[in-house]
Amino acid sequence: MLVKQILSSKSQSGILTIKSGDTIELAAGILSEKRIGALIVSENGKSVDGILSERDIVREIGKNGIGCMSDCVRELMTKTVVACGPNDNDVSLMAKMTDGRFRHMPVVEDGILIGVVSIGDVVKARIESIEQENAALTDMIHGNV
Ligand code: AMP
Repeated sequence: MLVKQILSSKSQSGILTIKSGDTIELAAGILSEKRIGALIVSENGKSVDGILSERDIVREIGKNGIGCMSDCVRELMTKTVVACGPNDNDVSLMAKMTDGRFRHMPVVEDGILIGVVSIGDVVKARIESIEQENAALTDMIHGNV
């Protein structure tokens, strides 16, 4: 399944981004309220300037305590972001996420952020593809095609 198909099957109400100068407290509030694991850091909602995941916040709290709540997002975000394109497929995404040990990927087309895919979205897509293949094979075995 292609990334663009995964994106179209998601109920997306806009892409959630945060600015690098916003606080970690604001980011944590959005992650909690929207029940998501990461935010794309973007100054204009189009470029990908970084990514901040719940892991970055938990790691900092574990090391230095909750003082980081007033820090800026840019202090904890990952600046070198691995992105994918709409025509990449789910298997290549799983490989990139496994290699990089992360669970989120921005989708970029012509340099513009068009969505975010999580490992949960990719696993769901794989299960759907496998179910479709199974149904097609079962039909073939029973002579329905
Ligand atoms: P995650 O598993 O997505 O919660 O993220 C684990 C770590 O990888 C955190 O430090 C994130 O900032 C970082 N990270 C998440 N997604 C990406 C990505 N697409 N490219 C690079 N780093 C990422």
